[in-house]
Parts: sequence; structure tokens; C-alpha cells
Amino acid sequence: MIKQLTPLPEFLVSRYKNWKSNSYPNSEGHFKNLASYGQNPSSMVISCCDSRVHATAIFGADAGEFFIHRNIANLVPPYSPDDKNHGTSAAIEYAIKELKIQHLIVLGHRDCGGIKNGHNLHSNNLNPDYEFINKWLSILLPAFKKIKTNIPKLKQIEQLEEESIKISVINLFSFPYIKKAVEEKNLSIHGLIHNIGSGGLKFLNPSSEEFENL
Ligand SMILES: [Zn+2]
Repeated sequence: MIKQLTPLPEFLVSRYKNWKSNSYPNSEGHFKNLASYGQNPSSMVISCCDSRVHATAIFGADAGEFFIHRNIANLVPPYSPDDKNHGTSAAIEYAIKELKIQHLIVLGHRDCGGIKNGHNLHSNNLNPDYEFINKWLSILLPAFKKIKTNIPKLKQIEQLEEESIKISVINLFSFPYIKKAVEEKNLSIHGLIHNIGSGGLKFLNPSSEEFENL
């Protein structure tokens, strides 16, 4: 199998060499410190795989600052320890138990393909070609049940983007050590939605339980 691999494409090799020659020297000390002393990020970000979501750029974060987990539609599944593979839950467990992060941010975004697919799935229009995506997007069902159905589809999807983050926050609290860390004020949880085109950022206001402009 490994013999079937091909060399890294030239455009990536040249981009890497350009970074190593021009950018790396400016931060060499920072990287060497990170390598020597290990990571100590203050925050975990759970964001979508979407290539347009640039979590480090919008917060001006440097290497070592954010522990980032990306998945389809930035979802958090409910706490369910069993014999299955749970990539998202494993990342959350490591962030809390080992890194002891102080802030956990669920970073959603507008125009999310995962959320659109989730809307289709729960509107009885699932894509039968998907072998993993439909199961993953079943996490959205409680959010889908909360959206209005007598409004245009685009508005429904916007609502689903917001409700999905609320469900992920609720699911975070189903992890006993997250609930404990929040109650002991060692951890704060934040829900955000980023508008890629406008650069806008909305936050889930805990008082109103609605998304408001930052
Ligand atoms: Zn997305």
C-alpha cells in the first residue's frame, strides 16, 4: 500500500520551503520553546472542516495558543463512552483532562455545507451515498426539531446553524468533567457563529440564549 503513494506535489514542496526559509526564522525561538516546554493552550476551538473557516486568523492566534478540533459542522456528540471510536470526544477529553484549557469555543459558520446536509437529512431527503456523514449529522436532530418549518428554507438553515451550536453546548455539559469544571469556574464555554463573507462574529448570549453581534 505505501508503495502506491506519490511524492508531495511540487506546489506544496515549494510552499513549505518558502515558509521554512522566510517565515520560520522570524519565530524560531517561539517554535523551539514550544518544542522544549510543550503546549499550554488557553483555549480549545471546535470548528468545521470547511476550508474557509480560519479560526487562528480571526483571533490573531499564534502556534501553541489554540487546541483545535475540526469536524463536519463543528458538532459535539453527547457523552457516550462505549467501544466505538469517538474522535471529537477524545479531543475534548484531552483538552480538559490533560491541557486543562480555560475556554472551550464552539465556532460555527454561515453557509455551512454540513448544516445544509443535516437539514436535508432531517427533511427526509438524505443522501444515500453517504456512509458516515448521515450518522454524524444525526447529532443535529434535536436542533432540527427546534427550527420553524413555516419559513423559507434558507432561514430554516440559518436557524439550524444557531440551534446546532446550542445542542453542542448542551452535549458538552453531558461530559461529567466539563460540567464539573464549569461549576468550579475552571472552564468557560462559548458558542460563536462566523460570517465568512462579512467577517462578522456572533456570540451566544447566555442571558437571552440568542446569537448577538460581538
Ligand atoms: Zn461547515
